[in-house]
Amino acid sequence: MSKLQTINILNVPVAPFSMQQTLSYLTSRLDAREKTCVVTANAEIIMLGQRDSEYMKILQKATLVLPDGAGTVWAGRTLGYEVPERVAGFDLFLELIKISASKKYKVFFFGSAPDVANIAKKECEKMAPGVEIVGTRNGYFKENEVDDIINEINNSGANILFAALGAPKQEFWLEQNYAKINADLCMGIGGSFDVLAGKMERAPKWMQDASLEWFFRLYKQPSRFVRMLALPHFVIKVLHMKYCGKLLDK
Ligand code: UDP
Repeated sequence: MSKLQTINILNVPVAPFSMQQTLSYLTSRLDAREKTCVVTANAEIIMLGQRDSEYMKILQKATLVLPDGAGTVWAGRTLGYEVPERVAGFDLFLELIKISASKKYKVFFFGSAPDVANIAKKECEKMAPGVEIVGTRNGYFKENEVDDIINEINNSGANILFAALGAPKQEFWLEQNYAKINADLCMGIGGSFDVLAGKMERAPKWMQDASLEWFFRLYKQPSRFVRMLALPHFVIKVLHMKYCGKLLDK
C-alpha cells in the first residue's frame, strides 16, 4: 500500500480523511490482515504530544491519526490544508461495529468500569445484529494482569481491539503491548463504552455541528477543566505556526 498522505498539525501527522475514506482504508487493511493502529486525535491529544515526547512518538508512529474534534479540523484548515470533515472516535467505532457485522470481523471490548463494556456489547448487538463481540474486559487492572488480558484478547480470535482506557493511557497501553496483540486493528476509543451504556451523555447533534462538543463535555464533567486549559494554548500554537511559519516552543 502506498504511503499515506498526511498533513502536519503541530508535528502530528494527521490523515485528512472523510469517514468514508477512513472506512475503506481500514477495511482494506483488515481484509489484507495488515496490522493497524488508529488514534483519533482531538486538540487535547495533540497538545499532550507537545508536552510529552514519548506520547508524540506514539502519535507519529501510529498507522492512522484522524482529525477528531472541531479543534483539529480548524487547525488543519487554518494551516492551509483541505480537511473534509471531523472523524470522531465514537462515530468511527459505531461504523466499524456495523461493518464488523457484515464482514464478520470479530471484535474485543477492553476498558471502562466493570460491566460497562458488557452493557455496551449488548447495545452493539441490538444496533448491529450478527456482530461477533468475542470478549470484554474492564479497564481496571494491575500490571501483573496484563499478560492474562493479552492472552484473553488473543484467545478470543478478535480481529479488532477497541481499548477504552481514556487518552493517553489507552495509547500508551496499546504501544507497550502492540507486538503481543494478534488483533489486526487496534484503536483507542476513550469513553465510548460509557456513552453506549448510558453512563455518559454525548453532546446533542446541534452542538456537535456547532463545534461545541468540548463545551458540553466541560459542562457535564467540570473536572475536565484543567485538561481543557490546553485548548487556548492549542489555538495560539496553531496561529503562531500559520503566521510565523514555525512551532512555538512553549
Ligand atoms: N478507564 C479505564 N481504566 C483506567 C482509567 C479509565 O478503563 O485505568 C476508562 C473509564 O472508565 C472511562 C474511559 O476510560 O470509561 C475514559 O473516558 P474519558 O471520557 O475520560 O476518555 P477520553 O475520551 O477523554 O479519552
